[in-house]
This record gives sequence, structure tokens and C-alpha cells, in this order.
Amino acid sequence: MGAPPVAPATDDPVVAQLDELRREAETCQKCRLSETRTRVVFGEGDAHSDLMIVGEAPGYHEDQQGRPFVGQAGKLLEQLLATIGLTREQVYIANVLKSRPPNNRDPLPEEIAACEPYLMRQVELIAPRVVVTLGNFATKLLSGSQTGITRVHGIAQRASIGGRDLYLYPVFHPAAALYTPAMLDTLKQDFLRLPEVLGLPLDDEGATDVAPAVDAAPPADTALAFEAEPSVEAETPVDAEPAVDAEPAAGAARQADATPQADIAPPAADAPTAAPAPLPPLTGGPAEQLGLF
Ligand code: URA
Repeated sequence: MGAPPVAPATDDPVVAQLDELRREAETCQKCRLSETRTRVVFGEGDAHSDLMIVGEAPGYHEDQQGRPFVGQAGKLLEQLLATIGLTREQVYIANVLKSRPPNNRDPLPEEIAACEPYLMRQVELIAPRVVVTLGNFATKLLSGSQTGITRVHGIAQRASIGGRDLYLYPVFHPAAALYTPAMLDTLKQDFLRLPEVLGLPLDDEGATDVAPAVDAAPPADTALAFEAEPSVEAETPVDAEPAVDAEPAAGAARQADATPQADIAPPAADAPTAAPAPLPPLTGGPAEQLGLF
């Protein structure tokens, strides 16, 4: 008689495959961040959620705990989710990088390239309807476009990622918005439109004309009132934009997660010209109780 079979940790094939991918990531040495990280931050949440949220890279607290968004930016993210009736357990949260860059510096192109297959496989396995990208790094990677977050936030784009047809919905990074009231306000408004984006039809649900994973607005028949792009004329040309499109680097802001700074400049030309539908004031909810709203 052989050894008794080891009971599988789960009989959910998606969870099992994510666990296997996590184990692979935990020993990954494809880039030099493996030399400086404390823990790999693979991602967590509901493996079957319609909503996946992708940030930039772990910061200090995430690196210590091995969990995404557990610092101040994470608190804000939880508050934003609460405004649309969701908890972090109901969505799946991951990052572009699974290891913390030293001193929260920006991710390097080679680090992004080394980590990209993990994120693509996460999207493939989770198969969300909507991927919310937080800030420039996640947005540029998953949209395949160099157009910055200042231009594309709040605009749902049809995309094919990890072989999945979905909507990409870029928003400002909460770490960047933490100390910049104008950006925070925009982030809150963009989040309040997420339920509508989650309700948009995908391919087999009547949507046609799949847009490539670029920064184009979705097809007109599925266009939302808020999808009109901010006026380009009012903005600095992309090439002349600062590296992070007037958004403070989330890395710097992740640092601010530990040491708050008050002097991050607001975005230069953030306000879309097409006014979105009026939104209810964000007061009185759980977010306000936590003191960030
Ligand atoms: N910022 C990120 O991009 N990811 C985290 O997990 C935390 C802060």
C-alpha cells in the first residue's frame, strides 16, 4: 500500500492554478529584485471576481507582509471600493511587479518584462470583466499604449489581455492621490462609475467591434456618457510630458505611505472637458469614518 494521497488544498481549478503560479513567483529570480525583496507579493482576492485591480509594485508594508495594498494606499483603495459597495475580498488585487523595488523607486523596463507573464497568467486565470489599472505603469503595460493616465483615466477601453476579452479601466494611483486633493476627487469620481463599466456587454453578450488594447474609447454603441476623452489641446503633448504625466510617481507616493509629504503638485491638466454626470457627494460613508475622505 502506498502513501495516502495528499488532499488537494482546493478543488477549485482556478484557485489551484493560481496557487501553483504563486509558488513559482515565490522562487522567481528573473530579475534583481529577488535579491532585495523580503517577500513576494503575488496578489490576493476572489479568484472568480469580475473585477481585477492592478497596481504598480509592492511598497514597504506590502514587502513585509507579502500582501498587496496593505499600507495607506491600500486603506484608500478599500475606501474607494466601499463607495461602490465592494470589499477587497470581493475583488482580485495584484501588481505589475511582484517584488518591491528598493526605496520604492520606479519599476525598470527589464523588471516589468520579467514579471509580465505572471500578471498575464493571473488575468487569464481570473478572467475578469474589468481590469482597473492604478496609475501609469499598470495602465501603459496593459493598454499597450504610452498614453499617460492623465489622458485616459475614467475611460473604459475594450482590450484583450491574457487572451481574455475585457474592459480596461484606468484610474489614478491611490498612492499618488493620497496627498493631492484634486487627484483624489477625480479618483473617487472615476471609481463611482465602475459599476456601470462592470455592466458593459462583452463579446458574447452583444458587444461587437472589439477595440485593440490601446487607448481608444470603446465602440460608440457601448460608449458611456463619461467616455469622452479629455481635450487633447488643453494638455501638454505626450512627448513633452513629464515621465509620469503630471502624476507623482506612485513609487514616491508609496514612500509617502510611510512618510506623508504634503507638497506633491496637483495634475497639470486633469479635468476632462466633457463633464461627467453629476455624482452624489462622498460623505457619510465608511470612507469618511476612516478619515481619508
Ligand atoms: N502601491 C502599489 O502599487 N501596490 C501596492 O501593493 C501598494 C502600493
